[in-house]
Amino acid sequence: MSQSFHNYIGGRWVGARSGATFQNIDPATGELLGEFPDSGAEDVAAAADAARAAMRAWQLTPAPKRGELLFRLGALIASQKETLAQAATREMGKILLETRGDVQEGVDMAYLAAGEGRRMYGMTTPSEMPDKWAMSVRVPIGVVGVITAWNFPFAVPTWKIFPALVAGNTVVFKPSEETPEMGWHLARLFEEVGLPAGVFNVVHGNGRNVGWPMVQHPGIDVLSFTGSNAVGQQIATECARTGKRVSLEMGGKNGVIVMDDADLALAASAVAWGAFGTTGQRCTATSRVIVHERVHDELVKLVVQRAQALRLGSGLEPTTEMGPLVNAKQLERVTGYMKVAADEGAKVSAGGARATGEGLQSGFFFQPTVLTQVERGMRVAQEEIFGPVVSFVKAKSLEDAIAINNDTPFGLSSSIFTANVNAAFTAMRDLTTGIVYVNHGTTGAETHLPFGGTRGTGNGHREAGHTMLDAFTEWKSLYVDFSGKVQRAQIDNN
Ligand code: NAD
Repeated sequence: MSQSFHNYIGGRWVGARSGATFQNIDPATGELLGEFPDSGAEDVAAAADAARAAMRAWQLTPAPKRGELLFRLGALIASQKETLAQAATREMGKILLETRGDVQEGVDMAYLAAGEGRRMYGMTTPSEMPDKWAMSVRVPIGVVGVITAWNFPFAVPTWKIFPALVAGNTVVFKPSEETPEMGWHLARLFEEVGLPAGVFNVVHGNGRNVGWPMVQHPGIDVLSFTGSNAVGQQIATECARTGKRVSLEMGGKNGVIVMDDADLALAASAVAWGAFGTTGQRCTATSRVIVHERVHDELVKLVVQRAQALRLGSGLEPTTEMGPLVNAKQLERVTGYMKVAADEGAKVSAGGARATGEGLQSGFFFQPTVLTQVERGMRVAQEEIFGPVVSFVKAKSLEDAIAINNDTPFGLSSSIFTANVNAAFTAMRDLTTGIVYVNHGTTGAETHLPFGGTRGTGNGHREAGHTMLDAFTEWKSLYVDFSGKVQRAQIDNN
């Protein structure tokens, strides 16, 4: 039964000022899941005002206390993991096994960020003058705007929101319009653990009417964005104009290198999981396999077998191994790339079309697809497809494989399968992505390590890990002179 949901602004549940709503649809069945406020600039302004009004008291709340609240939130999320995973699967399609992982990442992030409340280390350093103390501390920036994609509808928002809050900022959050219910859950959970009103606000709606006004609103000091390159670049341009800090996490074209000494069965299983998990809609999805020419045919055979054996269906069914794409637009996009592949001369070795059959008629299902005879410069080897499609490119040597891997506009994740320790260390040194795996696929980041990419994937920030506070804090330097004199640095003692 469809439910009616609200924005969460200043601790109150409210509809869009215009009264407009949009529908949230199950991509596996087409069923209506709920109606959400189709908000606009006036709702963004109300949320920004509420966040600013709450800022001072939140900043003066001791950081360890802010952390304790996140710790309680983590425990509450853990206690509702199954409910949350089911809601995420219903609204975006990936299988329950994976949405449970998505929610668990939120729990891990809550505990990690909670600990920062008792660390958040500054630095002390000797002054060059006698009887003078010098140190630097992190301070919050103000109101943080968070705009996210739909593929990790719980985990990704928590990577941004929890560090921002523990640092003493307040937040205005716009969840993806494809996964609004997870944003609603987050607000409900914050309310239940007693977060003061206005510290965290959720405004539902689309990018044009809610996201863009957030970017432009002068009362939002920092923007943290996860999504496509096209939108990220627009946001970065606008933030450059207004001098607003912006952290961007965008696309990937992640490669797995498979050398001729690799365990091919292991590599094939990792490629299948990396390429077809979350229906290929992960920023870290394996979308290229760069395989030594001596083992190419054998590896293709193993990956094709795994692709063809996958059971498609609703992610809520325990036997399903791959769910639908998130919406009709994604289906159209992935289908369009099949024509691109054909025009470029690639061969479809598995899949290649919309998946039909019993139980799949009403959803946006696409067959797990293996493309071979792909050359490194082809569009299917360069552009993010964001669907269950993997392209095989042949390499002649380790150096050749690394060069092919590095030759894309993106730089998020890469991996190498090899039994040779020298090859592994060479790859760790020479692969130019933000994340490199050895004998493991391109997905599976853990929250206590920095996350992010080089080149077109981002703008230099890293989320999570020991870098989690960097986007959401400023450094303030403090000098205390207890000499009782006017001491002139660089002058009096030189
Ligand atoms: P998208 O860019 O279409 O949308 C992302 C968010 O931006 C949504 O909330 C959307 O409503 C909002 N938005 C759209 N237009 C906007 C505008 N003009 N101004 C402000 N906000 C706007 O991306 P998507 O389809 O939701 O997500 C897929 C993309 O996200 C892929 O490229 C994927 O690689 C990327 N992604 C990256 C990471 C990462 O950490 N690097 C993680 C997950 C997803």
